[in-house]
Amino acid sequence: MARRIPEDLIDRVRQSVDIIDVIGEYVHLRRVGRSYVGLCPFHSERTPSFTVSREKQVYHCFGCQAGGTVIHFLMAIDGITFQEAVRKLAARSGIPVPDVQEDEEESGYSEKRRDALRAYELAAKWYQHLLLNTVYGRPGRTYLEKRRISTTTAHDFQLGLAPASRDSLMAFLERRGLDPVLLMEIGLGATGEHGRYDRFRNRLMFPIWDGQGRVVAFGGRVLGRGEPKYLNSPETPLFHKGRHLYPWHKARSALRKTRRAFLLEGYMDVVAMHQAGFTAAVASLGTALTEEQARMLKHNVDEVIVVYDGDDAGRRAAVRAGLLLQGVGVTAKAVRLPPGMDPDDLLREKGPEAMKRVLEQETMSLTAFRLADLRDRRSLANAEDRVSFLQEALNVLADEESAVEAETHLQSLSSEFHISLEALRHDLDETRQRQTLTRDKHGNKWNTNIDPATGPQVNHYPPHVAAERQMLTSMLLDPGAARQVEEVVADEFCVESHAVLAAHLYRYYGDGGTADPTAFLETVDDPAVRSVVTSLIMEHERRRDQGRAGWSLEDCFATWRLARYEDALRQVRESFDEAARAGRFEEMYRLQEQMKSLREEIDALKNHQGVFSQSRTEGGIR
Ligand SMILES: [Zn+2]
Repeated sequence: MARRIPEDLIDRVRQSVDIIDVIGEYVHLRRVGRSYVGLCPFHSERTPSFTVSREKQVYHCFGCQAGGTVIHFLMAIDGITFQEAVRKLAARSGIPVPDVQEDEEESGYSEKRRDALRAYELAAKWYQHLLLNTVYGRPGRTYLEKRRISTTTAHDFQLGLAPASRDSLMAFLERRGLDPVLLMEIGLGATGEHGRYDRFRNRLMFPIWDGQGRVVAFGGRVLGRGEPKYLNSPETPLFHKGRHLYPWHKARSALRKTRRAFLLEGYMDVVAMHQAGFTAAVASLGTALTEEQARMLKHNVDEVIVVYDGDDAGRRAAVRAGLLLQGVGVTAKAVRLPPGMDPDDLLREKGPEAMKRVLEQETMSLTAFRLADLRDRRSLANAEDRVSFLQEALNVLADEESAVEAETHLQSLSSEFHISLEALRHDLDETRQRQTLTRDKHGNKWNTNIDPATGPQVNHYPPHVAAERQMLTSMLLDPGAARQVEEVVADEFCVESHAVLAAHLYRYYGDGGTADPTAFLETVDDPAVRSVVTSLIMEHERRRDQGRAGWSLEDCFATWRLARYEDALRQVRESFDEAARAGRFEEMYRLQEQMKSLREEIDALKNHQGVFSQSRTEGGIR
């Protein structure tokens, strides 16, 4: 990999941070023995397979095999390059990193990326200047005044104004040296019959940031008449709307602290919520909540409160979002806002105190919310209506996993409709049975890639595989062991990936590398090889937690030799049978001699193994 930041500086940066702190900002980690575990951010799972070692400063997922150092983690989760990850960590620790020449290929990629980020940053500043300081900004300022958004909030959220002119932004950015072709590619401009034009015109602009607070897209609300009311940037390499929550970098620390997030529909709602002090508020970006966004929330909070509009569409969308959240395993609740009101209306007309009261008093479980919604939409005028309402209510209750909550609702339905509790329970059971199929279907849809593994488990390997893994572990921790393995085994590992890792280690120590698994990991570009390394380290940590020692190298060699001799014996026996069928007596005699000496070797090794397994038992080692 091309990297020109000096190695010693990378070491310094790496040593200045603790992997637990860095990963802890993305994943809720819990301590188990020597390690920390959490739900993997790289695949969907219900039980934690994602393991981080503070002592060894590496992470490994036993579910999807992702693994590496803190730098690899940032590269994977933020989608950034090695250089960018090092810089990010350096900035965090206040270590200056000089600008260095990047590799040609890499700089070609990141130059475009840098230009795109620069274009968005400049555009945001330009829009903001127009809104706050110029005559063109007046319609925007009037709108914000009406919405009771303060100048401070407008500054905080970098709100801006896209003027009604044809291509002022394009012209402005071009004068700053940005390529018009790039500007069109990243959705700031477009071309039509009459030439090029700005994508956003006559709109109040909301910058959308990535997790690091860099502007990567815009949402624009039309001022006055015009369609569409809301316009977003298109998907670009910097921006995938289903993966961002607005404004994640502002809300993240607040929602992680309370383990609770408020999910809203629109930018305006979120801005108003933050202004009123509800800083754990986020919104999906102009789309229905996606599974990826739901998982993002799940990795950071225990509970999401859906605060959508108080109209019919809003309530249906809230149910959909709630079910999706529940599907990925986070507790979803929902708030019933007064009919026809959105969160922004409520804050503006009644103030933050009223919102606080509503959030306290009107937040209910998803099931209660669905039942209330059902009641609103169903007439209960005659017996027929009441029966159909009850059946739909049972459909909702069939989704409820908490027996206590289901029972509570059954009881109130029973007294309200004068139907015996037994009859309702019976019908609920039937509904559940009938729904099993469809519910599973839904469940599958929401929970793609759920890992059936019950959690991080140390695999059980055949003896020779275990022996090779133990050799590699010793090599990672001790250059002397690496030299011994090189002499005895060289590249004759039974498992191909073990041979590849060994080759990396021989070279690493040959180049003067020290026994530091993290330093070694950073010389390995192949994720598959890294994954073997991190899994070895985690298994090593697990053994230490359990007070089990690893095998000695001598025992590993014996087990490895035994496997090889047994394999050789099998092959010789096959040749012998073939020679016997063909009546090649001389060859048979020679092969018989070979089989005899192989059997002797095997017996000797097995005797050694007898002592070996006894000593393992005595030492409390498996
Ligand atoms: Zn994983």
